[in-house]
Amino acid sequence: MNFHVLTLFPEMIENAINTSITGRAIESGLISLNAVNIRDFSEDKHNRVDDYPYGGGAGMVIQAEPVYKAYGYLANHIKLSKDDQSSYKKPRVIYVTPQGDVFNQNMAAELSLEEDLIFLCGHYEGIDERVLEMIVTDNISIGDYVLTGGELPAMVMIDAIARLVPGVLSNEASSEFESFKDNLLEYPQYTRPEVFMGRKVPDVLLSGHHAKIEAFRRQQAIARTYERRPDLLENSTLSEEEREYLTRLIFQKNYDVY
Ligand code: SAM
Repeated sequence: MNFHVLTLFPEMIENAINTSITGRAIESGLISLNAVNIRDFSEDKHNRVDDYPYGGGAGMVIQAEPVYKAYGYLANHIKLSKDDQSSYKKPRVIYVTPQGDVFNQNMAAELSLEEDLIFLCGHYEGIDERVLEMIVTDNISIGDYVLTGGELPAMVMIDAIARLVPGVLSNEASSEFESFKDNLLEYPQYTRPEVFMGRKVPDVLLSGHHAKIEAFRRQQAIARTYERRPDLLENSTLSEEEREYLTRLIFQKNYDVY
């Protein structure tokens, strides 16, 4: 899978994504990263890409033209890199923006099926609306707060998507069951030593009994989700037995209150 980023700070993206698990995935050719500097497409003699907003107001706005040219260069580069030109389809262009749909694990899974993805990072007060209307296919936010630029959100999304690309995670770091899978949070994890400052690992995890361990972990996941993110449970798929367990938890909590 190929990640492309249109940004004013390519080195920020490269430094982070070339590190650790995503860095190893790049080395082994499972994913690639191509960060394009929007400033390289400025016609200004000082390479400026921002200007004052029409209508007044605080801050600066990134101009449409350098973004449009950077996008054109990138789209052409992606097209030329394909062996089979006839099967080429325009990649999705994600504008990372606090005004978009809030990113989640299902979106990461869906985006991980794409061959190429382009991320567009804003800065200052954002980007001239006209170029956004022309090139953007998806508006995605990482949460209801405002950051100084789109680089961190793009990195967050690239990391979450890349680890779902087959082969990127080793067996030890498998994404087979983890938080948000089945709309449940992950069960608590333990490693050696067996006793830490008087706190013992739950006995069942030492039993070697796989079915019991799995049932215990599912119950822990349900309890944790109920405690920390009850909103997720509405869309989780639970067996009848697990629903009964959840009902008992709810009853217990209400009983505790009174
Ligand atoms: N004036 C814009 C507004 O109120 O919607 C915010 C601009 S913000 C200071 C600059 C850039 O950071 C945005 O264009 C966007 O690319 C990025 N950004 C900031 N917060 C973000 C968030 N929560 N999710 C995704 N991108 C964000």
